[in-house]
Amino acid sequence: MSFEISRKQERFLKEVDEICKIIRPFEEECYLKETFNKKIISEFNKIGMLGCPIARKYGGLGYDIPTYLLAIERLGEEGNSLRTFFSAHISIGEMILQTWGNQEQQKRYLPYTTTGKNIMAFALTEPTAGSDPSSIATSFEDRGDHFVINGKKHWIGNGSVADLITTYAKEIGGTGSNSKNISAFLIETDSRGIRIREMKNKIGMLTVKNAEISFHNCIVPKKNLLGQKGQGLNIAYSALIDGRLSVAAGAIGVMKDCLNESVSHAKTRVQHGSFLAKKQLIQRHIAKIILNMERSRWLIYRAAFIRQKLQNYIEGLKMRDDRWQLKMTRNNREYSVLRAEADNLSAIAKFSASNAAFNTSDRAVQIFGSFAYKKTNRVARHFLDSRAITIYEGTNEVLELKIASHVLGERFRAY
Ligand SMILES: Cc1cc2nc3c(=O)[nH]c(=O)nc-3n(C[C@H](O)[C@H](O)[C@H](O)COP(=O)(O)OP(=O)(O)OC[C@H]3O[C@@H](n4cnc5c(N)ncnc54)[C@H](O)[C@@H]3O)c2cc1C
Repeated sequence: MSFEISRKQERFLKEVDEICKIIRPFEEECYLKETFNKKIISEFNKIGMLGCPIARKYGGLGYDIPTYLLAIERLGEEGNSLRTFFSAHISIGEMILQTWGNQEQQKRYLPYTTTGKNIMAFALTEPTAGSDPSSIATSFEDRGDHFVINGKKHWIGNGSVADLITTYAKEIGGTGSNSKNISAFLIETDSRGIRIREMKNKIGMLTVKNAEISFHNCIVPKKNLLGQKGQGLNIAYSALIDGRLSVAAGAIGVMKDCLNESVSHAKTRVQHGSFLAKKQLIQRHIAKIILNMERSRWLIYRAAFIRQKLQNYIEGLKMRDDRWQLKMTRNNREYSVLRAEADNLSAIAKFSASNAAFNTSDRAVQIFGSFAYKKTNRVARHFLDSRAITIYEGTNEVLELKIASHVLGERFRAY
């Protein structure tokens, strides 16, 4: 495992950094107005960021997962809110399509998503099914040449700006277990029978748009079934591995920004006759921020390395076996070992980095004192936004149980 980055990666990350600097004032303005920062699409499109880990043949940059996550880390410096747009569009959007979609679906959609013409979202959570997605109530009926979907999703990131979503529904009259009856679908948001309502009054994440999406006899063509019938939860859970990694990588950016902001404030603010930076209790906050950041960083790089190994295995499987979708299950030992490891390490990385980012932003607010008690302050925004990252992409409680059950075994699963 190498931590060296190539010249090419370095150049790309520099481009990401440059665009981040350009969009910063717009993001800050939008945050105060609680509006979506449209400029991120046009600006990041100039460097291909909207398709960073997607194959070149579909207009992406074809970067591996570790490189993509380094870019996400930089985006995290601009806030979880901005970074969440990319996670929803890429990690739990395009990457699902790249991993699970058939060639026809990839050709039909990816060239539009990688260029930002179409934005993606991931719609799993429902008012009565949050940390237990197997209990979703959204239903589908197989009508021979199409499916009919009914139900409601909520809190969907990018929900009101998305053109294409993946969603998950349970078959009416399905005879399998709860989880075996769930299938995944690609749905265009201008389809008949969809209603989208933006969710307001959020306590943070003010530039990313969350929405409630309801399906009223929504007709979905057969060709928009993602994966095989009954593979929905398998697909959703595999997407969450990438979602978690992006949350974790973004959290490193948050901590880096909190550190930079705190250091410059502490070196200029004088109280009791000397700079805050001279006070030992302020230095303790700074040391803890650095420890938070560095401890989380390596967990993410290790998880990203294993996740890339899983992706390499999947790409190989696709090349040698027409029935590849059916081989991406527990019955395939090689796949299931790699998948379980990626799943576990992504849970560890997300749990650690999200808690660390929240703790870090809290310490940064403390260093700033009253100066950080307003939304115009960068660390204040990190504090507000970091509250959400311990809740979404798997609550940290459920992740703890997942981490324990990886060692204890399925029989002892407590969730
Ligand atoms: C800002 C934001 C963005 C989001 N974006 C998306 C999105 O893009 N797509 C999407 O599908 N969803 C999204 N969500 C939804 C998110 O995934 C859910 O909020 C999350 O899964 C938790 O579900 P819940 O809120 O219903 O909480 P609940 O499931 O009701 O849980 C409440 C509390 O109980 C705990 N708990 C539950 N079960 C157990 C257990 N067995 N043992 C111990 N503790 C337990 C939980 O950890 C949590 O602390 C988003 C949420 C937020 C806040």
